[in-house]
Amino acid sequence: MNPPTLPTPHQPGPPRAVAGAPLVVLDGVRQVFQKADRAELVVLDGVSLTIERGEIVGLLGRSGSGKSTLLRIIAGLLQPTAGSVRWCGQPVTGPCEGIAMVFQSFALFPWLTVLQNVELGLDALGVAPTDGRRRALAAIDLIGLDGFESAYPRELSGGMRQRVGLARALVVHPRLLLMDEPFSGLDVLTAETLRHEIIDRWIEGRLPIESILMVTHNIEEAVQMCDRVLVLSTHPGRVATEIRVPLQHPRHRLDPSFRALVDHIYGLMTQPATAHAGAAPATGGFPGTGVRMALPRVSTNRLAGLVEALAGPPFHGEADLPELAASLRLTAGELFPTAETLQLLRLAELAEGDVRLTEVGRRFAELDVDARKRLFGEHLLAYVPLAALICRVLDERPDHRAPFTRFSEELEDGMSEERAEDTMRAIINWGRYGELFGYDEETRQFNLEDPG
Ligand code: ADP
Ligand code: MG
Repeated sequence: MNPPTLPTPHQPGPPRAVAGAPLVVLDGVRQVFQKADRAELVVLDGVSLTIERGEIVGLLGRSGSGKSTLLRIIAGLLQPTAGSVRWCGQPVTGPCEGIAMVFQSFALFPWLTVLQNVELGLDALGVAPTDGRRRALAAIDLIGLDGFESAYPRELSGGMRQRVGLARALVVHPRLLLMDEPFSGLDVLTAETLRHEIIDRWIEGRLPIESILMVTHNIEEAVQMCDRVLVLSTHPGRVATEIRVPLQHPRHRLDPSFRALVDHIYGLMTQPATAHAGAAPATGGFPGTGVRMALPRVSTNRLAGLVEALAGPPFHGEADLPELAASLRLTAGELFPTAETLQLLRLAELAEGDVRLTEVGRRFAELDVDARKRLFGEHLLAYVPLAALICRVLDERPDHRAPFTRFSEELEDGMSEERAEDTMRAIINWGRYGELFGYDEETRQFNLEDPG
């Protein structure tokens, strides 16, 4: 996955920090990527934000909303297409000294011990070896890896490896720590422990950093850890809302004020159909229109599972999204696309943080497998234009076959290749389940022969 980012050496004559300036100020940042076919993809547009000293800021947004891109821009690893980026009051023109990053899956060097992996963070800084060793040991101690200095990565659990990644970032004593979904690769319990430890040390003032900016798609995590949460909208990404979290630490998930904030943010994030200019409400909030609507890769198992969970007790057809997420052990990032797909298919409706089964949705929950598939297929054909297009093309062709690329190329005109791939995978899974068409992985062809 992501390679580790090591701190960069001092640039010749770095601009001096402006006293009292916020750590980061972004103004009107726009990021456009050129796709393989030279079409343009606007990922970020008009992003303005400030990171002050002494705060933990959360960046919440759906997958693909440009969160990682934004972090790379802040770190100076990517020059935005337009807009200004200031670090300590000075324009950013290259990698910033004083910023360190932690990724979701941290690439450790397997042939180096924990200590050596952490010391690596200092290599580029020109710290004297004895001083470096002392700092590395302190970082290892701080992050709870005391006693594992000479262990190799393969001997560590996922949670411990993530700690090494964190220690490697902290050893440089960065002013700003950027974390890109640092807990999402960990199991629930490990993630929870690590979150608590970071917050405890932060409050005790033991972390050698001034501020943290963390990307997450987990709303509870953001409310648990952050002083301020920025919600990034999708297509293009911009800061849609800013929410202050006025709760004292330690924060308890079950506190009514904690719940109220989580509910509030869920509500803000479930109004995509109206929040995106240009997207008709009928799309359920997915970007793009008609055949070129981007579909999320949600399995029919998960779709059917959500309908069943909603229909049964304690929800009886209607649920508060945070409660539903908790009861199904899903994060918001996993629940939203599923609920939105149900909305697109008219099996459910989303409004202000609630999800409600429609009449058809309730009926779906009671049908047997074959009847479910029929109903699903009918709705897919009626409400997902890409499904209808595939059926029509297969129908028109004498051999009733069509290659994957016939449709993927059309999609790539309007979205990134990655999104097009996800959309194709989604429609293949849904179309098979609804028995509208079959797909042969070997020949990469759609057909009308072996649906299901
Ligand atoms: P997030 O982290 O919110 O999931 P990313 O910032 O990784 O989102 O990506 C946002 C969009 O930008 C995605 O559609 C992705 O495919 C696209 N993208 C990211 N980096 C590049 C790049 N270097 N070239 C082209 N497209 C990119
Ligand atoms: Mg990302």
